[in-house]
Amino acid sequence: MNKPYCEYMKLSSEEIVEIIKSSLPRPVQIIELDGEMRILGGEPVQVSVGLFSKKLVVYLFSVHWEGSANPLPVNTPIAIVDQDDYPTSQSAFRDLITDLISESIKMRVSTFITCPNCGNFSPPEWMHNQEICQACAQTQLGVEY
Ligand SMILES: [Zn+2]
Repeated sequence: MNKPYCEYMKLSSEEIVEIIKSSLPRPVQIIELDGEMRILGGEPVQVSVGLFSKKLVVYLFSVHWEGSANPLPVNTPIAIVDQDDYPTSQSAFRDLITDLISESIKMRVSTFITCPNCGNFSPPEWMHNQEICQACAQTQLGVEY
């Protein structure tokens, strides 16, 4: 196998994708965007990472409701790492990614709300209001979405 950057110990893009995927909460989804590979982790999504040709971006994930039937994912960059600053060893790269991902997850999960009715710990977009989650609102209040 020809590994042109072997002498510089650079990580291949496959290794980078594998490390990011294995650092994310399951399930992991990959979305191919124009010039970006977006990798999301968790259900509900807890964090997303964008992989560009020369940088990676860790996003704070949230959802904005456009009306009541149209949830729009919102990805706010919280960390940008330039390719030139990528650690060259797998373990150092994993450490960096794990830190950034856990920071983003912490911010996301801090917005989650415990439904006073059923006790489920849900992201804000799953709440009907501060008092009740959508699932409870549907079954108990007859709310239709
Ligand atoms: Zn509930």
